[in-house]
Amino acid sequence: MAKVDRESAKRDPAPRDPAKIARIRRKLLDWYTINRRDLPWRRDPNPYAVWVSEIMLQQTRVAVVIDRFQSFLVRFPTVIALALAPEQDVLAEWSGLGYYRRARMVHKAAQFLAANNEGNLPITSAELRTLPGIGPYTAAAIASIAHHEAVAVVDGNVERVVCRLEGWEHGNSGSAAALARKIESQAQALVDPARPGDFNQAVMELGATVCTPRNPQCIVCPLVADCKTRGEHKTAPRPRMLSREVAFALCLRDRQAKVGLRRQTVCEVLLDQRPESQSVMPGLWELPALKEAAVPNEDLRMTVRHAIMQVNYYVRIRNVHEGDIDTLAVPSATRRWVPRAEAAAMPLTGLARKVLMRAHLLSS
Ligand code: SF4
Repeated sequence: MAKVDRESAKRDPAPRDPAKIARIRRKLLDWYTINRRDLPWRRDPNPYAVWVSEIMLQQTRVAVVIDRFQSFLVRFPTVIALALAPEQDVLAEWSGLGYYRRARMVHKAAQFLAANNEGNLPITSAELRTLPGIGPYTAAAIASIAHHEAVAVVDGNVERVVCRLEGWEHGNSGSAAALARKIESQAQALVDPARPGDFNQAVMELGATVCTPRNPQCIVCPLVADCKTRGEHKTAPRPRMLSREVAFALCLRDRQAKVGLRRQTVCEVLLDQRPESQSVMPGLWELPALKEAAVPNEDLRMTVRHAIMQVNYYVRIRNVHEGDIDTLAVPSATRRWVPRAEAAAMPLTGLARKVLMRAHLLSS
């Protein structure tokens, strides 16, 4: 869907029925009060916690975010703590959430706030949008949830709910930009000025749990009486996933090292750092990529399925002896033997973390 222009949205209001709007607000907030999920960022919705959770929730499932959000806030409890941390520590704590650009942007914005605003986030959505990495959606979420500003949050869930309520679809509502303006305008008209944060979260919650992309549960929907489609909308086809076969080396060695006052055997794993020039996951650490995707059965350690955006990766992990690595693996400028205990705290790719955990080389 096209990006929404808030100024144009104000100039292009959809026709309104005040009684219907009041009914939708009341029914939705009543439903939300009873059905809202108990999510950690809802327990203390301070601006920093809302900001971190909203950025994490973009493109990552709620179940994954619950765990990572709590440990992120324990590690970096304030904007200042986040600003002072080295980027590699922030990326390591982001591990498992994917889309690491988000972590870099949050870190940069925290550094800006520490340097210019004593570590405080601005209050209004307009000011929040001037920060790096904070767009209209995140700014509206922080301002409405933490500061009760009556501004609509428009994400994919909200777009879907509004379109279904109004019977709008691509193709029957003018251009994509015109439809985006109508959705923005309608979402803004619906926001309850008395409880804007709860209302925004209620619409998103309805979209995530009841008015789902496929098989909406209209029978339990609090808005069914005011909905023009009630499950009779067209469903967009699922994007086609591509498949790729790849293979990585699991190369381990034991080394005698001094740990405290004693010498003991330390297990090390060979890791490559992805170049900073890469557009995907720059600077993260991964297992060495093999030149050949085919792996002889006797050397196969495990197979893993891993999805990144529109691609399903079928991954073979090969046991590789230290002496064979240069022949079998793609060369890397930054290759390092890392003690197991250290690897857990490094910014690993999601796939590397998954493999090391399945091989019982990492515990979390
Ligand atoms: S009635 Fe059905 S389609 Fe309409 S908003 Fe509710 S769940 Fe969505």
